[in-house]
Amino acid sequence: MASCSEPASGCSDSELTDLPNSRRESPRSLLDVLKCPDPSTLARKRAIKSKPPVGVKKSKGRAQVSDPKGVLPSDRLKEFPNECLKINFSKKLFCEACREVVSHKKSSVQTHLKSNKHKKGKDRLQRKVASEMDIAKALKLYDQQNHPVGETLPDSVRVYRIRVLTAMLKSGTAISKIDHFRELLEENALALTSTPNMRQLLPFVLGRESDRVKAAIRGRPISIIFDGTTHVCEALVIVVRYLTDEWVIKQDVCRLMLLAKSMTGEEVARQINSCISTEMGISSDLVIGAMHDRASVNQVAMRTAKVIYQNILDIGCFSHTLDRVGENMKTPILDEFSKAWIGMFTRSPKTRERWKSLTGLPPPSYSVTRWWSRYEVLAKLMVTFGDATTLLEDEDISPANAAKLRAILDDPAKKRKLKIELAATVDCMEPFVKATYNLEGDGFLALETYESVNALYIAILSKHWPNVAAMTKKEANGNSIHEKQLLDYADTCLKPAYEYFKLKFDQDLKPAMNAFKAARLFSPSKVNSMHPTPSDINDLSVFPFFPSSVIEELKKELPNYLSVAEDVSSAIDPVAWWRDHEYRLPNWARACKYITLIQPSSAAAERVFSLLSNSFKDNQERALEDYVSASVMLQYNSR
Ligand SMILES: [Zn+2]
Repeated sequence: MASCSEPASGCSDSELTDLPNSRRESPRSLLDVLKCPDPSTLARKRAIKSKPPVGVKKSKGRAQVSDPKGVLPSDRLKEFPNECLKINFSKKLFCEACREVVSHKKSSVQTHLKSNKHKKGKDRLQRKVASEMDIAKALKLYDQQNHPVGETLPDSVRVYRIRVLTAMLKSGTAISKIDHFRELLEENALALTSTPNMRQLLPFVLGRESDRVKAAIRGRPISIIFDGTTHVCEALVIVVRYLTDEWVIKQDVCRLMLLAKSMTGEEVARQINSCISTEMGISSDLVIGAMHDRASVNQVAMRTAKVIYQNILDIGCFSHTLDRVGENMKTPILDEFSKAWIGMFTRSPKTRERWKSLTGLPPPSYSVTRWWSRYEVLAKLMVTFGDATTLLEDEDISPANAAKLRAILDDPAKKRKLKIELAATVDCMEPFVKATYNLEGDGFLALETYESVNALYIAILSKHWPNVAAMTKKEANGNSIHEKQLLDYADTCLKPAYEYFKLKFDQDLKPAMNAFKAARLFSPSKVNSMHPTPSDINDLSVFPFFPSSVIEELKKELPNYLSVAEDVSSAIDPVAWWRDHEYRLPNWARACKYITLIQPSSAAAERVFSLLSNSFKDNQERALEDYVSASVMLQYNSR
């Protein structure tokens, strides 16, 4: 408290009282007397790294080697061909891979060519040349089909423009900013073109990215993650998930559509089919899973899609469902309080500043798209409840919201209920928050999903409520009847949330839960403790993509699997383990490749939407779909 009432440095109280004295010595301007504004912590001065003072030994730099007499740089060029060397404009030997001049003394050249820097630079240069040839080849094809303006320009200029445009899209830089970079980008290289002309190249870049995804998933099993949003605009996204030959899990956006109005379930199914089967050319038996939010339109879409893709396992998003558990809590006073509490900070910078100086914490805020972000605000409110009361004593802060908050705190019965509701939310929702976060990643989560959800059933039964217990004890002040009433009240708050959770996971998500239960057989560190018998392997028939022939092969290989997986630590990365044991367990490893594609959440789609909203928040209407798609695809897919 004390620190915040102190004026900023340079104009303390003592200086003001000393004023007549100091004025006698030297006249001071009014500026010296007025209080300066409190600088933000971001206003601190940046530390600039400087060179060591003269006399301090520098780290060893590049030694100056004098060029030998009697030998010409061009002789070295003949002696070391294919090493990216050339003669530069000042007739020196120049390495294009490292972008530096090299002495043409023989030993220097040899040392240079052996260095890691040179090897890496050479690799990079070769990749660049290959990629440029690729672009040039693709442009030829594109020209034949489209005859775009500018097709007569030299290849080098067009390829350069495509590369600049691609880099801008990948970094999320608006194309309209190209004029700021033009001078710099044209300095040592080729001419760019106007922003509208650069935009003309978008369909080509978008087509190339689609072709890249298409080539990456050709012939592989895939799963899809799809969802619609209305946050920025009506949009539908389809992400494909696949495993590379090196056992790396990849997720790529293959379709982002902007829509005039929201789609029906059948329209969504039609889009999935046109994207996956027609454009990407994936055979329908290789589409083995679909993860989506459980909105009714997506469920209708899945019913239609299952007719075409008979091997598909349908997974309603676990994270979305767990998120809604919190929304089902019945905490009327806390809802009213938290709304005014958050509102107070969103609308008043003064309140934010007061809160920061009072607690040293950033002001509470939450995002509507991020799951459980409201919970985090409440958990912080619980810890800083005393500071919140102090803040509300301040007459200066956001008046309307503060009045609402004070009205709750001044009513003892309401205040008591508020505290119980807050404690119940923090205690009981914590495991749900953790599970949501665990399950929304992009990794190999199929092996852990069942246990994560099961832990929630256990948490509900165990009633471990430390904050509720402490709060009820304190409020009841030794009155056991009163304490029981407060505990019952906490129960009433939680009941609808728990009922929602059980309803969803015991019924709607039951088939998916069974699939994740069976998927645990692929956990090398857990399989031995499960003591599976050949008949247990039949549980894997919940996966529509495992025909009985596959299950029989897995049964045959089971003893071998159990023996190889003996004493596997739970700390290992299961994907790496399967990659390393593929040659010993070919059938199980092949089946495991399918399991890596099954995810418990559609959070990937959510992440695409957040890229969309970050990149196109303000100029959505003016951006055409090819621009939005190319930007979001290149940003997401190049992660
Ligand atoms: Zn080099």
